[in-house]
Amino acid sequence: MDSWATTPAQAVRHAVFSVFAAQGRPPSPGELAAACRLEREQVISALRELHDKHAIVLTDAGDSIRMAHPFSAWPMGFVVREGDRFWWGGCAWDSFGIMAALGRTLEVTTTCPGCGATLRYSAPPDAPPELVVRIPRPAREWWEDVVETCTHIRTFCSSDHVTEPAGLVVELERLYRLALPWYGDRLDPGWTPKPRGERQAILDDVGLTGAFWELPG
Ligand SMILES: [Zn+2]
Ligand SMILES: [Zn+2]
Repeated sequence: MDSWATTPAQAVRHAVFSVFAAQGRPPSPGELAAACRLEREQVISALRELHDKHAIVLTDAGDSIRMAHPFSAWPMGFVVREGDRFWWGGCAWDSFGIMAALGRTLEVTTTCPGCGATLRYSAPPDAPPELVVRIPRPAREWWEDVVETCTHIRTFCSSDHVTEPAGLVVELERLYRLALPWYGDRLDPGWTPKPRGERQAILDDVGLTGAFWELPG
């Protein structure tokens, strides 16, 4: 399915991403109803459709937005800043995704889970080249619990500081190159999820190949 089943879903999706981009927070269902000129029930069913298609992630209660990748409604270990404005990055990948979506270089602040050091970088090549990111689980499992997955996609000072053995370690610079095409079009009003083949090709293009990176069908 490469498009939305309903027109409200498209309008609601765009409104969600616009508010996140402008204000660093998700809109409420009431705000979405006013912005999209929809009934509240239409907004709720559009949000469910977007959740089911992995365009957003609803909270467990189902009535508010937890994530709209690359944006997060709550702190998740990454702050992405521009002057006195900021966004919560869902993970190391999403933090670059916010730059990709907004089309600007921003400053990322996080903490190395291995040693507790504060890490601050904009986009590679400014960052120290030894910085790495751990991807905790294979691509086919990312959406089994995507909030949990993002929670563990963290930036470390170097591969020596990666304390838990699970997953794979990727250079920060490669993750940046991945985030640009993955998230660059997320604010487009007509955005729809890319077919699996296109997403797989983006991973291939940055050299992330093999069983670990194979997306679910
Ligand atoms: Zn460290
Ligand atoms: Zn993430």
